[in-house]
Amino acid sequence: MDHNATTPLAEAVADRMSAVLREEFGNPSSVHHFGQRAKAAVDEARSAVADLIGADPSEVVFTSSGTESDNFAIRGAAEALEPGGRRHLISSGIEHEAVLNTLKSLARRGWQTTLLPVGASGLVTAEALAAALTDQTAVVSIMHANNEIGTVQPVAELARLAKARGAVVHTDAVQTAGKIPVNVKGLGVDLLSLSAHKFYGPKGAGAIWIRRGVRLLPLVTGGKHERSRRAGTENVAGALGLGAAADLARTKMTTDAERLAALRDRLEKGIIQSVTGTVVNGSGARVPNTTNVSFDRVEAESLLIALDLEGVAVSTGSACSSGTLEPSHVLKAMGFPAHRTQNSIRFSLGTANTDAEIDHVVSVLPRLVEKLRSLTRTPVRA
Ligand code: PLP
Repeated sequence: MDHNATTPLAEAVADRMSAVLREEFGNPSSVHHFGQRAKAAVDEARSAVADLIGADPSEVVFTSSGTESDNFAIRGAAEALEPGGRRHLISSGIEHEAVLNTLKSLARRGWQTTLLPVGASGLVTAEALAAALTDQTAVVSIMHANNEIGTVQPVAELARLAKARGAVVHTDAVQTAGKIPVNVKGLGVDLLSLSAHKFYGPKGAGAIWIRRGVRLLPLVTGGKHERSRRAGTENVAGALGLGAAADLARTKMTTDAERLAALRDRLEKGIIQSVTGTVVNGSGARVPNTTNVSFDRVEAESLLIALDLEGVAVSTGSACSSGTLEPSHVLKAMGFPAHRTQNSIRFSLGTANTDAEIDHVVSVLPRLVEKLRSLTRTPVRA
């Protein structure tokens, strides 16, 4: 139940990749037929990715990950706009580290950065963005769905506002692409990141969509690969794995989403009913597979380990670094107090999860939580 961290490779994707690894060893830049076959296969995968997000294949660039795509979008657009005098970047406080640390890094080099607040719902509002936008704003980067709580941001509305002020708009769609419909035209953004391993594709394979006409300075310089936007001999098997995962996602999306939402709701309801002092974090539109629950008077890391011993894999938003439990930066940005930001567990379901597994979690949780609570003295908040 930790599919927002990663997903298992789908059988069909593994088959496609292993065939390619064995048979398609040509370099896509080679003129001879070995190279041309590999190039054709990569371009077929490019079309599959484009189809998943309603884009033109020529606008899709393969990368090594969602992290690289986020870096390329923000650094590439910022550096391309810098000579024009725009030195301001806007994002939100609930972004993935791939975005937050890229902004931090640019801030150290003199860029002005603004992280928009989110309310208790976990949503960025048009008012907050409007107040932060200036004529100096180069890039606005707002994630499509949050990885910890699953809330889907009003990206189309935010993109309209930002573009009216001349900013380039990026969305990190790593947690939505392959899970819910993502359409670049509908979102109205200029740049979009996605990652194969979040939807049953391989790790280390991502893509960025770059709207035609939007200029990015390349992160990786070298040969003329990927229309001179990202140098380096293509990861042929990775790209094909991403393409195969995109094809699969497109055909199964509606049925998978309905099933996962039903499983998620069953889990959420079961937990809230059977364990006192629990509250769901984030409201409004959410990706169908995700729920994030705070357990009062329970250290999230301890509950994670207890669940692991029961054979259940989940994750916490908070990070344990050098023995201190860091609160979740997402829940902190939502304005929640410490007892809620350090006690949260993310359950993120996948296509292989079953009703029986949900029921197992709901049946073991009261005992595990009770045991952990018996070790502390503070009374449970209702
Ligand atoms: N952005 C979001 C929202 C994510 O959830 C993740 C992965 O957890 C990433 C970016 C990074 O993607 P990758 O693991 O492909 O580098």
